Amino acid sequence: MNLRESAPPLSAEQYEKNFAELVPPMTPSQAAIEAARCLYCFDAPCIHACPTHIDVPTFIKKIYTGNLRGSARVILEANILGASCGRVCPTEVLCEGACVMHEKGQKPIEIGRLQRHAVDYVLDRKIQLFHAGAPNGKRVACIGAGPASLACAAELSQAGYRVTIFDRNAVPGGLNTYGIAAYKLRADDSLREVEQVRKLGVAFQQKVEIGRDVSFAKIEDDYDAIFIGVGLGETWDLALPGENLVGVRRLTEVIVGSALGRSHRHMPANDTAALRFGRCKQ
Ligand code: SF4
Repeated sequence: MNLRESAPPLSAEQYEKNFAELVPPMTPSQAAIEAARCLYCFDAPCIHACPTHIDVPTFIKKIYTGNLRGSARVILEANILGASCGRVCPTEVLCEGACVMHEKGQKPIEIGRLQRHAVDYVLDRKIQLFHAGAPNGKRVACIGAGPASLACAAELSQAGYRVTIFDRNAVPGGLNTYGIAAYKLRADDSLREVEQVRKLGVAFQQKVEIGRDVSFAKIEDDYDAIFIGVGLGETWDLALPGENLVGVRRLTEVIVGSALGRSHRHMPANDTAALRFGRCKQ
């Protein structure tokens, strides 16, 4: 029996139960209380521990004063993917790991959840905080529509470059859309971030693989610069006995299935990539 073909898809209710969010969003009062704990440190080690150097105390202070839009601006100016990072970053070893509250023997500030609270505020309301810059006449191609290309494209577009993203998948977002377990980040949430980048004037060409559908030489001719966001490689074989048996599945396959369980409505019905991923239902 081929378990890949025979495993029935989960019902919507079962899916929600199995893949419920591990870390729930904060309520406004929870966020206000947590924000009030932040000491607004002068040398803020949390900023240095953040790979994108978000001004953590400033965005938290703005949550405390009820300025969620301003808070989101502080976050997104440093990291346009602040919503997904607020959900998936290993904050316990980054910003929260560096929080001075540890030295006081207290629980570190919940920076990740506060970040999500602020950015979700603008995404929920479709508030577009940033806009394309005045055109500078230069064109840039980004290969791959994952987080690296999205961040690159967002910065370039605001600086006046005309950016096109080429991606072989059916929908953009790369790892954030396809490769993160749904209890951490839903594909829907990834696609909301993609929409922010699209509204900056970035063009997306999906189901286009460079070297197959368009030659690299053509891209070089058509664009002033190329950014290559190579994304994830293939999963490595473990070289364990039985790993190729029927019913043994690679974890990435399982994750893709869980990530798309709720968001398959974004996939065109005739799309082969979507159908391929759709077979990975849990
Ligand atoms: S280290 Fe902790 S208390 Fe200090 S600014 Fe950062 S989050 Fe606030």
